[in-house]
Amino acid sequence: MTKTGKNVISTNPVQNTGAWRNLLDPSTTLGVTTGMMVKLKLHNTLSGKKEDFNPINPDHVRVYACGPTVYNYAHIGNGRMAVVCDLLSRILRELYPKVTYVSNITDIDDKIIAASKETGEKIDSITQKYADIYNEDMAVLGVAKPDIQPRATQHIPDMIKQIEALIEKEHAYEAEGHVLYHVPSYEAYGVLSGRSRDEQIAGARVDVAPYKKDAADFVLWKPSTDDQPGWESPWGRGRPGWHIECSAMSESTLGLPFDIHAGGSDLKFPHHENEIAQACGARGAENAPEEYAKYWVHNGFVVVENEKMSKSIGNVQLVHDLIKDHKGETLRLALLSAHYRQPLNWTKTLLEQSQNTLDKMYRVMKKISDIPVAEGEDNDESNIMDALCDDMNTPKAIASLISLITSADRTEDELVLSNIKREVLRYSKIFGILQENPDRWLGYDGASPENAEEIESLIAQRKEARANKDFAKADEIRNKLQAMNIEIEDTAEGTIWRKIG
Ligand SMILES: [Zn+2]
Repeated sequence: MTKTGKNVISTNPVQNTGAWRNLLDPSTTLGVTTGMMVKLKLHNTLSGKKEDFNPINPDHVRVYACGPTVYNYAHIGNGRMAVVCDLLSRILRELYPKVTYVSNITDIDDKIIAASKETGEKIDSITQKYADIYNEDMAVLGVAKPDIQPRATQHIPDMIKQIEALIEKEHAYEAEGHVLYHVPSYEAYGVLSGRSRDEQIAGARVDVAPYKKDAADFVLWKPSTDDQPGWESPWGRGRPGWHIECSAMSESTLGLPFDIHAGGSDLKFPHHENEIAQACGARGAENAPEEYAKYWVHNGFVVVENEKMSKSIGNVQLVHDLIKDHKGETLRLALLSAHYRQPLNWTKTLLEQSQNTLDKMYRVMKKISDIPVAEGEDNDESNIMDALCDDMNTPKAIASLISLITSADRTEDELVLSNIKREVLRYSKIFGILQENPDRWLGYDGASPENAEEIESLIAQRKEARANKDFAKADEIRNKLQAMNIEIEDTAEGTIWRKIG
């Protein structure tokens, strides 16, 4: 364990440490709300700008995010999307009385059908299995289950209804058992991704089907053969295209328009562009993409050791594997260490730094574990809240949280400590970290009391040896502790230890 190792998370200098300074000064009135609510700002892909978030109905904020297609394990890029959306919904819940966060499960898709053919496993059992694994893995990352998690197969009638409306409004047409969206019919197409028509055609990577009126047209409904899953529809037995799933499910669960649509930046085109065209086209909202969702929030890619994550390179990091070797909070903190819109470089070093940062924070939490939590109203005037509300500036917010926590190491004043503890508990809950018992995290609860006494005694002997410049003896004791699976670290506050393995 490195004591002075550079830490990506804490290298962001904490410019403004007013929050804990106030807390350290007992003369300051603490925990008093001013009635002023912090204003959330979000970068809206639709406008290309950071905007004040003004909900359609402040009494009920509605958010939708595209969820997984369940036929295999989620990778860390999927994990990042889920963690970012989870953080966003936690921030919104701090600010507004009611938030509905919907994230779907795509359980009908050609990739799922292909996986079923390949493995011989039934489609239902594949989708159930991987939906369960997804939810379990995300729970380890501290992701709360969405308020509503609709499954595509439960919303086929909604999709058929939306497709019928599109045909009626001449945005879609039937051809050879397919229903296609006619892209040139929707003038605002391309408004979200900023893609030109040529780029749209190239980017859509369309197979030139003879029944398409335009190369950019995309499938809303397609016919199913007898061995493929299908539903009866006005166009024969078939199944929906992927894009129509989200616009139909978001409409039926949230109503239109809703406040925020989120997802990975790779979904901007064509998926999100198509969602807008479908939802707005079906309700006659021509040239008014905000009639579907008002704000579009996209998170950046995850690269692995500076390389694009891809099957061909063999560097795909699955959440299911990562949670075997790392604690969920370590992964979550690592995922939040970069600003959500920036690419995130997923490295071994990042994971080590995240673990070290959490170890340090937990040590302070242990120190103040017996301090009662100060009572009073939540105070929104804090650097942490400001940073979170500034387009979810997590690097800055985490640096402020670290600053706040470490300030507890510079005082013994109980009142100050109890106020720090209150703030730390509040914000760590929003971040979804420090939710474990400090003893458990630090591995203290694994040692028996007799064992702990022996460890403390060896540490004291080592201290004495070092004071006498008997480094050989000090090393010998360290090795002895190591053999007992005890890792020690010399800190400014003295030597601390924890059980490893
Ligand atoms: Zn979607």
